[in-house]
Parts: sequence; structure tokens; C-alpha cells
Amino acid sequence: MDKRNFGDRSEQVSLLGFGCMRLPVLPDNKGIDRKAAKEMLEYAYEQGVNYFDTAWGYLNGKSEAFVGSVLKKYPRESFYLASKMPGWLLKNLPEAEELFAAQLKRCQVESFDYYLLHSLTTREEFDRLYLKEKVLDYLHREKQAGRIRKLGFSFHGSIELMNYVLDNFPWDFVQIQLNYQDWDTMQARVLYELAIQHQLPCIIMEPVRGGALATLNDKAAAILKQAAPQNSLASWAIRFVASLPGVLTVLSGMSTMEQLEDNLKIASGFQPLTAQEREILQQALEAYLEVSPIPCTGCNYCMPCPFGVDIPGNFSAFNQGAGKRLLTDQTQQKEKREEFRKLWADLAPEALAGQCRSCGKCEPKCPQHIRIPERLKILQNLLDQIQ
Ligand code: SF4
Ligand code: SF4
Repeated sequence: MDKRNFGDRSEQVSLLGFGCMRLPVLPDNKGIDRKAAKEMLEYAYEQGVNYFDTAWGYLNGKSEAFVGSVLKKYPRESFYLASKMPGWLLKNLPEAEELFAAQLKRCQVESFDYYLLHSLTTREEFDRLYLKEKVLDYLHREKQAGRIRKLGFSFHGSIELMNYVLDNFPWDFVQIQLNYQDWDTMQARVLYELAIQHQLPCIIMEPVRGGALATLNDKAAAILKQAAPQNSLASWAIRFVASLPGVLTVLSGMSTMEQLEDNLKIASGFQPLTAQEREILQQALEAYLEVSPIPCTGCNYCMPCPFGVDIPGNFSAFNQGAGKRLLTDQTQQKEKREEFRKLWADLAPEALAGQCRSCGKCEPKCPQHIRIPERLKILQNLLDQIQ
């Protein structure tokens, strides 16, 4: 496993970081599949992965305790543990103090190696909680006390907000969403360049865009498969971000052993993309964007919907249809229509897009800035048309 540091030689972070938000789960939402998830975490550790990223809310609040329970048998100094403060849940400093203490307890550790302000999205939230309520000062005190080794933030806001937090406050690292689809279309390149200008190591999240870049559509997939039949589609996405200078570790939210094996292969003896491969990847991206998928990563931050709509489930079904090109001129063909409808078969009637009441509760929570009620409406209209 390749290791990286950023001028600090005592720090040797594995190029592949384990994102613990998509660990395998049991059917019918019955919680983490502890056996399978434990096997994956242990195998990753044995293969040299030493960065584990969890958060208060991941896996319905179960991720931190689970990750802590698996890692506790390893020497504490042999892995880096990251967790995050969910600012949107907190009203004031005492709540933040209580939550931080609970996180250490959940994870069964004395300190976090990397601690993040989770999902900075608006200046309002940053100013209210971290400045007015002085939670940022508190986190620096935790750093002085040794309970936080490095302090950073994960980011889903505007370029203006990024400039504001980078210019005015000291950080040890940043965590940004970066992948080859968002590089030009979602300001990812600008955010990355700002972090590099501030000489901050970048931790990368969503390198495979919630799994979408692991499937693409038929045309885009064929381009990549023709260029390198033995390589997975996801491997192109991981290599794209890991090739960028200043990237400390690439977080992958893995759910299966196959995904882990594939990622381990890429991150051991890492080969950056060549100029020719970059061109091929660009061609594949253009083919992928011909049918525009909804940029949902399946993060679940928008859930639950008070009316029971399965927002990511609907978007995922739509994107699968888009990937198979069932939505272009083929929608009139009977078998294509049937195939498209079947993508919704796993969703209960009350979870369908048509149940959306446009209450707007979900939209501000979406880090991808998706106009959720609007997209659900379009999607339901489409389903109605092909009945
Ligand atoms: S806008 Fe629609 S999907 Fe979003 S929370 Fe309200 S009812 Fe649910
Ligand atoms: S709609 Fe937005 S918040 Fe909801 S799962 Fe998709 S990306 Fe996440």
C-alpha cells in the first residue's frame, strides 16, 4: 500500500482511505452486516490501509461505534481515525462539547487523528455555530489538549465560502468532493486549487461519485473497457484523483470485498494516469454526459422525508435508466418501457417520487445542491408518460 505525507515525515497515510459510510448492511435495513463489514475493515488494515473515516450520522449513527469496536484491537498509533462534527444538529457550545465527548466514547479512543467540521455548506452555519457559539475555539482547545491531532473541514459550499474559511482561519487539511465528472462541472477544480494554494493536504471524498462512475452508461463504459479490458471502471475514477499533486488520501466508501480488492490493487504501486489515458477518460465522460444523470451520490443527508419518499432510491433508479439509455428515443419501445419501470420495483408505493408534497425540507440538506422536489416531479411525469 502506497503511503503519503505532506512534509510531515512522521505521518504516513495510506493512499486508499476507508470511508465507513457505506459498509455492508443487512437486508430490510436491519443495520450493519457486522460479519462482512468486520472482515472488510480487518482485511483493509492487514493490507496497509491505515486511514478510517467515520462520522456521527453515518449508517444511522452506527458507524462510529462499529468502526471503533473493530479497530480497538490494533495498536492505536498504527491507524488514523477521522470523525466529524455535524454542525447542522447543534445549537450551542455545550451541545458540541457533549457530542465530541460522546464520539470519543463511541469510537473507544482518547483522540481523533483527523477531525472535521462536517459538510460546511453555508456561511450562516459556520458563523453561527463555529464563531458566535465559539465551537471553533473549543475545537482548537481540544487540539491543544491532544484529543484532536489535525483539524480540518469537509466542504460542500461555494467558492466564496471556501475563500472565507481558508483566508481567515488556520487548518491542517481540507476534505473536498473530487472526481472526474465534477472536475469542471461542479467547481471541484477551483476548490482543489484553492486548497493547494493554501498548501493544505487534500483528502478526497466521492472519487467515484457515489458509485455512478463505477457503472457509467454503455457507451462510456465501452470506451474505457476497450482501452483497458482488465481495469474496472471505478479504477479510472480512483486513479484520476490520486494522480493529482497534494492529494493525501482517497476515501472510498466500500460495500463489498470486490470493491476493496480492486481499490487495494490501484493504491499499491500506484500508477498515475498518462496523458493518453486522460484523453480516453475525457471521451468517456463526454459519452456519459450525453444522457444527464441526476448528480445524487446516495449520501442520504436529505432523508428521512416526512412523507416517506425514498429520495436517493428514486434518483438511483432514474440514473440506472439513464445509464442504460432507456430514456432517449427508445422510451416508446415496449420492452424498454418495461425495463425502465422495473427499476422502481424495489420501492414501496409510498416511497415513489409522486408522493412528494414539495415541502422543501430535503433540499437545503443536499450537498450536491439538487433541486429535489423539482427533479422528483420531472421523474414522476416521465413515469406517468410511459405507463
Ligand atoms: S420536498 Fe418532497 S421529497 Fe423533499 S422532504 Fe418534502 S415531500 Fe419529501
Ligand atoms: S439527493 Fe442529495 S442529499 Fe439526498 S441522497 Fe442524493 S446527494 Fe444525498
